[in-house]
Amino acid sequence: MSKRIAKKKQDYLYPVNTNRSELTDILSVMERLLYWAAIIESSDDAIISLDIEGNIRSWNKGAQEIYGYTSEEIIGKPISVLMPTGKKEDFSTILNRLYKGIKIVHYETKRQTKDGRTIDVSLTVSPIRDPHGDIIGASKIARDITERKLNEQKRIDLFSSISHELKTPLTSQKLFGDLLEKQILKNGDIKYKTYIQNINKQTGKLIQIINDLMEVTRSRTGRLTIEKHYFSFDEFIREQVYSTRLSSQHKIELKGKTNKTVFGDKARLGQVVTNLLSNAIKYSPNSDKVIVNVSAENSHVVVAVKDFGIGIPQIYHKRIFERFFRVFGSNEKEYTGLGIGLNLAKDIITRHRGKIWFTSKHGQGSTFFFSLPVSSRENGRRNATIDDAPAV
Ligand code: ADP
Repeated sequence: MSKRIAKKKQDYLYPVNTNRSELTDILSVMERLLYWAAIIESSDDAIISLDIEGNIRSWNKGAQEIYGYTSEEIIGKPISVLMPTGKKEDFSTILNRLYKGIKIVHYETKRQTKDGRTIDVSLTVSPIRDPHGDIIGASKIARDITERKLNEQKRIDLFSSISHELKTPLTSQKLFGDLLEKQILKNGDIKYKTYIQNINKQTGKLIQIINDLMEVTRSRTGRLTIEKHYFSFDEFIREQVYSTRLSSQHKIELKGKTNKTVFGDKARLGQVVTNLLSNAIKYSPNSDKVIVNVSAENSHVVVAVKDFGIGIPQIYHKRIFERFFRVFGSNEKEYTGLGIGLNLAKDIITRHRGKIWFTSKHGQGSTFFFSLPVSSRENGRRNATIDDAPAV
């Protein structure tokens, strides 16, 4: 056996029948391999490869830094040694998906280090195939996101306590503001009408921000309530568009019809449409047109909210639905917001077994879409409840 390997090695290093150009090709392949090996070795992310049984085959320096094991200690061990109790099921779920050839992208979960600490990681796992296309293992990239998660949690805790403190005084301020507005209108006091209306409008905005902050805390802790009913989707969209038109200078066109019934939480889905519409308006300072298109495809209804505004640069596309993510770093003040609306929208749509996505070109505008399953009552079947949906 060792002789065979040695012979092979020798053939490879000193190929007898190799001409100069083949030799140059081999050297250039080796050079490229060394180059890639150096990149893998110098990465801060853990880059690990696994065989088909889930045993670790390679382990870079980043993996050693994140998990604490040296390659000598870990190679040959099952990847499940990195999984904390309670997360062991991750292992079979991930392997099952890999066997089907499905890549797992940016999957956030917990892992355990050699010294017993539990850390947050974001994983990307892809199948490795042999030249015949058969899956022979997996490559895994893990990024330590513990610090980011901690900061996020701190921010959420702070927002949560501030919003609870502000909610009561602001609600009572709005109540008295509304009463005052009525009185001023009744007295025909035109001079003060605009003042009080502006005060009430701004108070309304503040209350909306506070509500969003409270929602994001609920969504993160899994306490976002969803109450489902059957409703006409066309009527629902019409109501949403009409009420947005009342508070906006933009021309909002409504196109299409679905003639479908949806089983879902109208108020929560209303939050999604309001958020997409208000973003379309907010991020289109130089265009006054927004088009809402509804259609029905097979067993789904699809909504598209199109604007002709500033658009989103390609490099940020992947991050748009992340909590607190906002694109316009230095221009943030120009467009007010907290970067939670789309994250909440995604949570709501996912809990309705729907999908949300977008297309956008920097400087030309964006279209945000979401799709929802049509009520199965229409197909004569009993409806499964939304919360029966498996976690995505
Ligand atoms: P917010 O608008 O409060 O910042 P969102 O979660 O609704 O939060 O949106 C996240 C980010 O996505 C925004 O800060 C903005 O950078 C970008 N974005 C969302 N919708 C649009 C749009 N229609 N056009 C351009 N950028 C958008």
